[in-house]
Amino acid sequence: MQYLNPGALLIRRPHAVANIIGNDTHPQLRGQVSFYQTNHGILVSVQVFGLPGSSFLGFHIHSGGQCAQPAGHYNPQGLPHPQHAGDLPPLLSNNGYAYMSVLTNRFRLEDILGRTVIIHAMPDDFTTQPAGDSGDRIACGVITLYNAPVSRRSRPKTPEATG
Ligand SMILES: [Zn+2]
Repeated sequence: MQYLNPGALLIRRPHAVANIIGNDTHPQLRGQVSFYQTNHGILVSVQVFGLPGSSFLGFHIHSGGQCAQPAGHYNPQGLPHPQHAGDLPPLLSNNGYAYMSVLTNRFRLEDILGRTVIIHAMPDDFTTQPAGDSGDRIACGVITLYNAPVSRRSRPKTPEATG
């Protein structure tokens, strides 16, 4: 069993990302979720600012692919909350800023592309069905493959004659 090396992982390009944008009542809320494939599962790294207050906020992957009308928690096996594949630990807002990095092997990268990351207005109680009584959906982002812009410096050059 090998430990992850998050310091080495997190400086790389993520495999997938979700750009988080607040809803109409949280226009200042912005963030990014990065997904890294590892030998132990997916490392989910999230940074958000503009969150309300200083408390825990429900954080889940929902099955829908649109922020306007996201469906319920991603739950391909039909299990009760919080055993949904898309269930994640809540974010902790520190005067509006949250950072979290968490490992989950409940889904593969290809399972979540096109689905949505949702931040809720209240904590997840990990008991109430179907969503932990976590309240309104205050922010959302669609999960997409990360397409890094091609750097001119790293683009292969025409081979030069070396004699
Ligand atoms: Zn759930």
